[in-house]
Amino acid sequence: MFRKGILFVISGPSGVGKGTIIDSVISNFSDLNLSVSVTTREPRANEIDGREYFFVPVSKFQQMVADGELLEWAKVYDNFYGTPRQMVLDHLKSNQDILLELDIQGALKVKKTMPNAVFIFIAPPSFEDLMQRIEKRGKDSQSSIETRMKSYESEMQYMEYYDYVVINENLNIAISVVSAIITAERCRYNNILR
Ligand code: 5GP
Repeated sequence: MFRKGILFVISGPSGVGKGTIIDSVISNFSDLNLSVSVTTREPRANEIDGREYFFVPVSKFQQMVADGELLEWAKVYDNFYGTPRQMVLDHLKSNQDILLELDIQGALKVKKTMPNAVFIFIAPPSFEDLMQRIEKRGKDSQSSIETRMKSYESEMQYMEYYDYVVINENLNIAISVVSAIITAERCRYNNILR
């Protein structure tokens, strides 16, 4: 018996620990692919072109949008981000799973075009907990922290559009829960190819 490829989408407020959870989940499943997005944001220290993102100028991004090369795209905190369409479709066509980390606007767009995708929202235990994490990771400028704080309330309101909500109170538990969701979705009768 074979399985259909599943598209998993993970979102959550900035700083909630999505990246750490995703890195561990990807290393738990050798047969789960991670999509690499295109962005116009500047690379952070330690980020490598083609690994975290494909870093492109705005003109190139706009060309990709015009040419229909992106499955979805959104402007997040003054930068553009988008998912290369072909890579996702190729994986699904060959019955392989692929995971996308998207902001909420992007996730809602994918929900319309790919209704069978599985949507997972990572939430913090509280706003205070989230703020502590963002300050501790020290990756963001003060103005960027303030923008992200302002987005928190509205982002949390979109939780209802997701299939699963995972609260990242304890990192190891959150990783296990996301892994369990992936395993359970793989066992769904509708995902078996007969
Ligand atoms: P960061 O700049 O911190 O890497 O990401 C900022 C936000 O952009 C995060 O919420 C992340 O989930 C989102 N993001 C990353 N790649 C994409 C993408 O391809 N499409 C959309 N819509 N959002 C993305």
